[in-house]
Amino acid sequence: MIAVIGGGPAGLMAAISAASIYRGRVTVWEKMPQVGRKLLITGKGRCNLTNTADIERFVANFPGNGKFLYRCLRDFSSQDLCRWLAGQGVGTKVERGGRVFPVSDRAADVVRALVNGCRQQGVTIRTGCRVIRLLISDQRLTGLQLASGEEVAAAAAVVATGGASYPATGSTGDGYRLLAGVGHSVTEPRPALAPLVVAEPWVADLEGLSLRNVAVSLWQGTAELAGLFGEMVFTANGVSGPVILTMSRLAGQAAERGGQPVRLLINLKPALSPETLDLRLQRDFDRFGRRQFKNALSQLLPRKLIPVAVMLSGIDPDKPASQISRSERQRLQELLCRLTLTVTGVAGLEQAIVTAGGVSVKEVDPRTMGSKKIAGLYIAGELLDIDGNTGGFNLQAAFSTGWLAGRSAAAGLV
Ligand SMILES: Cc1cc2nc3c(=O)[nH]c(=O)nc-3n(C[C@H](O)[C@H](O)[C@H](O)COP(=O)(O)OP(=O)(O)OC[C@H]3O[C@@H](n4cnc5c(N)ncnc54)[C@H](O)[C@@H]3O)c2cc1C
Repeated sequence: MIAVIGGGPAGLMAAISAASIYRGRVTVWEKMPQVGRKLLITGKGRCNLTNTADIERFVANFPGNGKFLYRCLRDFSSQDLCRWLAGQGVGTKVERGGRVFPVSDRAADVVRALVNGCRQQGVTIRTGCRVIRLLISDQRLTGLQLASGEEVAAAAAVVATGGASYPATGSTGDGYRLLAGVGHSVTEPRPALAPLVVAEPWVADLEGLSLRNVAVSLWQGTAELAGLFGEMVFTANGVSGPVILTMSRLAGQAAERGGQPVRLLINLKPALSPETLDLRLQRDFDRFGRRQFKNALSQLLPRKLIPVAVMLSGIDPDKPASQISRSERQRLQELLCRLTLTVTGVAGLEQAIVTAGGVSVKEVDPRTMGSKKIAGLYIAGELLDIDGNTGGFNLQAAFSTGWLAGRSAAAGLV
């Protein structure tokens, strides 16, 4: 038997590719009641499954050990993935930044395709079965032990138990322990692509507010570390959303370095020059001249943001809009172009989209995903010490490493 441990995208794809060439039994062991729990919530339930970037750009989008992925991306590329999904009746579409989604916008369709693929190849899926130990004899894999105590013989195994983020989906870092137990080195797991925690208490009033088309820049002291345009969302104690997640690695490193404060500057009106924005404010305040200042911003800002903007502007909320002075207007304009947040840290692993760190890629052969320490053992997916940017890169890495690991496990036995 080839045992695949973990029924996420990496494990399910490994099982499919193994079973397509192996004549014996392939079994997926999944500890949760269903496979693909994390996959179901990817891309806010829409599943940004890959990206149209070419291999060079793909690798460049993995600040953590991207080069390790060259081979598997060549062997099972984003086009291969889309072709395979099309064969399962799941059409794909491309959105901004080369992000690829199922046409249906339903992650559940991707999970269904993988489960169908397993079924078609005769793969057995055993849910509710947690693997707690790899059985090894003479540096060769011989089987695995389940939490029930049962021992199962296996000629090869693919470990694809995921990282340690969003543990409610089943990814609780078991694979780190399984592999450390057989001599693999594990770089300490830490959050990557995670929300940022900020010092300003007023963000709590904005929790859930999503801002589209904003320009966000990250600063430490007078040095600009990054600048991005797009969407962000406020959380109970900070900020999240695509732009923030992409910056989170740099922001976290800067906050850890200490020294100068780390700040986010949000330009709420990036399409308007300061002069145009000032004219716009003048126009609104003329038009709503009799209204109190606090009621004169409804054309300019989302409702939830108005009380915070009024408070931060320091302008008397009850003042008639027509009486707002030039310098007050100037202050408001500054605020709208440079809403400032002080970053105090990165949210924990439980809120991170991806785990950085993991099983050292130095001990895994990138041509096969085979362990360099234990014969018959293969490793795939987020469990490895690789982590990519947002944009579909992480899922493609899971699919590509999974596909290659499954194929190599089978090739080693036929
Ligand atoms: C909210 C959220 C949104 C995301 N959106 C995107 C996106 O749009 N695009 C993108 O590219 N990436 C996205 N990601 C990241 C992506 O989901 C992961 O990188 C990917 O799922 C990793 O796949 P994997 O197969 O390695 O691990 P996982 O998907 O974590 O699967 C591992 C599986 O192993 C099982 N398991 C664990 N331990 C054991 C054990 N001891 N025995 C048996 N089974 C076990 C788990 O239950 C789980 O089913 C998102 C992540 C999150 C949290």
